[in-house]
Amino acid sequence: MERIDLHIHSIYSDGSFTPEEIVYRAKKLKLKVISITDHDSISGIEEEIEAGKKLKVEIVPGVEMSTDVGNDEIHILGYYIDWKNKIFLTQLKIFQESRAKRNKKLVERLKELGMPVNYHELKKLAAKGGVVNRLHIARLMKEKGYVSSIGEAFEEWLNPGKPAYIKRMKVSPFEIIQLILDIGGIPVFAHPYLSKRDDLIADFVKAGLKGIEVYHSAHNAQAEQHYRKIAQKYHLLITGGSDCHGKNKDKILMGTVNVPATLLENLKKEKEKLKCSLLI
Ligand SMILES: [Zn+2]
Ligand SMILES: [Zn+2]
Repeated sequence: MERIDLHIHSIYSDGSFTPEEIVYRAKKLKLKVISITDHDSISGIEEEIEAGKKLKVEIVPGVEMSTDVGNDEIHILGYYIDWKNKIFLTQLKIFQESRAKRNKKLVERLKELGMPVNYHELKKLAAKGGVVNRLHIARLMKEKGYVSSIGEAFEEWLNPGKPAYIKRMKVSPFEIIQLILDIGGIPVFAHPYLSKRDDLIADFVKAGLKGIEVYHSAHNAQAEQHYRKIAQKYHLLITGGSDCHGKNKDKILMGTVNVPATLLENLKKEKEKLKCSLLI
């Protein structure tokens, strides 16, 4: 079976590999098509496309946007986005600035809690133009011996309700679905099993959601089955990916999730449909 991976993070957010390294690995793993979907960042796409041309790996330009509903974080993937669109880039900048402010406050809070980390050291963990997020902070906390694992950093300190939780600007998933549609992209609900907010899916669909991530490294066979049924019910496209963060997570996940390449045909059809509707 030919395989694809439509959910990978690079050094432009919280992954450890450069886009070129990711494409090279994809080639070795015989992945036919990949998409780097950095958090609120498109800074790796150009390098990804260049490497894809060189190594003959097909690239889907993508992004993973963080949004909020109450205290729950909902991630929306955008595929085939017009990543040079000015309105989109302005919006990304606003999100990135809000995240940078949050990070500064978080560093202050950690200092108060007796776990100092250096803001500049933190900034260096993501590539220039990339996004620094809580996984980077968790990594530093582990490196400095404040926690014994990344999981502990989140569970004891960084998650909502924990002492080092600092809110960032709230972003509505409905706005993001619309934003992705506005730039010709396909909005997809990422790893719904992790979000545990199936109650929102009907409203997302009304807002223009086009797909749901059925295959994901955190989805077991039961979850896959469950979300496949939901995709059928709402006529959503099925997508999938490993959500590989390189060495920043316990395991390098690329190649570990079997996502059939045939899914891409429907994604491409949808892309054409959306492009036509933008021209009307
Ligand atoms: Zn995510
Ligand atoms: Zn992700």
